[in-house]
Amino acid sequence: MSKGKLFVISGASGVGKSTVLAKVIAAREDLRFSVSATTRPPRPGEAEGVNYYFVTRDRFEQMIAEDAFLEYDSHMGSYYGTPKDQLEEKLAVGNVILDVEPRGAANVRRKCPDAKLIFVAPPSMEELERRLRGRGDTSEEQVCLRLKRAEWEMDQSRWYDHVVINTQVDLCADQILKIIAGYCGE
Ligand code: 5GP
Repeated sequence: MSKGKLFVISGASGVGKSTVLAKVIAAREDLRFSVSATTRPPRPGEAEGVNYYFVTRDRFEQMIAEDAFLEYDSHMGSYYGTPKDQLEEKLAVGNVILDVEPRGAANVRRKCPDAKLIFVAPPSMEELERRLRGRGDTSEEQVCLRLKRAEWEMDQSRWYDHVVINTQVDLCADQILKIIAGYCGE
C-alpha cells in the first residue's frame, strides 16, 4: 500500500522547471523526486542517479521489455521513463514528484488517477526562447526543436490540474508549495 501522494510537474525545457523543482523539494522533507532513466547524454553539472539514470538505448529497451517503467516516452531523439521500482519505494515512505512531459503525464494520470498534475509555463514564448538560448549548453538545432515542442506542450497545459507561470523562481516555487500543501490537507 502506498502512503504518499503523487505529483507530476511538466513544463517546456528552458522554463526553469528544474530550479523551481529543486526549491520545492528542498522545502518539503516528505517530498521526494522520482529520478527518471534517459538515453540522452548528461548536460554539464548533471549527476548520475540525481538528475537522471543515464542509460544506453539497449539498456532502456531491455527495461521496456522487463515492464520496468510506469510510463516512458521518446522525444527529441531520446527515451525518457519513470522506473516503477524506485517510484514505489519512495511512495511507500512519503510524497513523490515526477518531472515528465505531457504524454508521460497523461499516462501517469491514466495509471494513477489520484496524481495531481502541475504545469509550469513561461511568461511568454519570447522569454522561453531567450532563456533557452541563454543556457548555452544546447545546439541551435536543439533550441529550434525544443521551441517547436514547447508550443505543443503549452497547448497540452489546458488539461492539467494547475498551471503556474514562472515569472520569478521563488514565487513560482511558493505557488507550487501552496498547491501541494492544499492536497496534503495543510
Ligand atoms: P530534459 O532533456 O530537458 O532533461 O527533459 C526533456 C523533457 O523530458 C522534459 O519535458 C521532461 O519533463 C521530460 N522527462 C523527463 N523525465 C521523463 C520521464 O521519465 N518520462 C517522460 N515521459 N518524460 C520525461
